[in-house]
Amino acid sequence: MLQKTDGFSGGDGMSETIKTDVLIIGAGPIGLFAVFELGLLDIKAHLVDILDKVGGQCAELYPEKPIFDIPAIPRISGKELCDALMEQIKPFKPTFHLGEMVTTIENIGDPLFRITTDAGKVFEAKAIVIAAGGGSFQPKRPPIQGIEPYEDKSVFYAVRKMDAFRGKNLLIVGGGDSALDWTLNLQPLAKRVTLIHRRDEFRAAPDSVNKMRALVSSDAMDLKIGQVTALQGDNGQLTGATVKGSDGALATLACDAMLPFFGLTMKLGPVADWGVTLEDELIPVSTQTFETNVPGLFAIGDINTYPGKLKLILSGFHEAALMAQKAHHYVHPEKKLVFQYTTSSTSLQKKLGVA
Ligand SMILES: Cc1cc2nc3c(=O)[nH]c(=O)nc-3n(C[C@H](O)[C@H](O)[C@H](O)COP(=O)(O)OP(=O)(O)OC[C@H]3O[C@@H](n4cnc5c(N)ncnc54)[C@H](O)[C@@H]3O)c2cc1C
Repeated sequence: MLQKTDGFSGGDGMSETIKTDVLIIGAGPIGLFAVFELGLLDIKAHLVDILDKVGGQCAELYPEKPIFDIPAIPRISGKELCDALMEQIKPFKPTFHLGEMVTTIENIGDPLFRITTDAGKVFEAKAIVIAAGGGSFQPKRPPIQGIEPYEDKSVFYAVRKMDAFRGKNLLIVGGGDSALDWTLNLQPLAKRVTLIHRRDEFRAAPDSVNKMRALVSSDAMDLKIGQVTALQGDNGQLTGATVKGSDGALATLACDAMLPFFGLTMKLGPVADWGVTLEDELIPVSTQTFETNVPGLFAIGDINTYPGKLKLILSGFHEAALMAQKAHHYVHPEKKLVFQYTTSSTSLQKKLGVA
């Protein structure tokens, strides 16, 4: 069974330290495959990802696009690749901490690391694998003047706890899947939901759009075509928003909170503060071990750099296999590592649950 702590339950403050062999930062395709390579060597992993789903760029940027250069798989979509990786790593029971960003890393041993997330979780790991890709996906801020004082008080770019919006007058802004999904999820518990989009066409899944339109027809929510141009409120608490309709007319909508979903952009994020050398926002690594300048701290996938690096999924898979060999040295220093094939090793097959 896949163990997972969902992104909406985070933010409850400091919790007990979670001890693990390896902490993987980033659950993109390379972070996921690292679980497999580590698992074959009896190394347990926890993964943290800012997104509320696994798969990194494949899941977030091109879930339906076909990929043609995964060895021996002539054609597979971004989502199908992530699903297949999740199936492949099932035997190793990784624990996922989604909707959380790793913020700090502290070297407290030889090597031993203490890692914290923005949801207050604390981990202790014998090794860390940074598989953070292009960095952290961060929400795009809508072009509304004076929005900053309201952010995280009554303007939210993510929903951590649905219950925080119970009984509230909500404005949800956007026309993609996030805007539509949250409209449908929050409508039953909010006092009133108004979805605002600049045109009467949506990029979201047609089924979600149909459900939203049905709710509007039955007067269970409102749809407003236009753009938010100004906010009203005090001390970070919104009381209303001015919406300019497609005909240019201005209207003021009363609200307690606004949730803009304008997509995500990628920023390096806190990686710069983790004590690793950076070169053009990438982490230089040894091509033998994929270790950084800090012993026990590895970097694989799009986040690393070395002579000849190609930002391809297949390169990241190779890097994960070599990384695991060196991580074994830190996690099981007393054990000799014997190279084995999955085709012929009964011991590996037992770990995979096939023997
Ligand atoms: C449109 C498009 C098409 C592509 N097509 C191909 C192709 O055909 N073939 C191919 O091989 N490659 C392709 N790529 C590239 C491929 O997607 C990347 O090489 C691959 O996703 C890299 O995987 P990764 O796991 O290293 O990083 P990512 O997929 O970027 O995942 C990194 C994860 O780390 C998380 N993260 C970052 N910082 C933190 C933090 N501080 N705390 C917690 N989590 C964090 C992010 O949220 C993200 O989910 C394509 C890319 C794009 C954009």
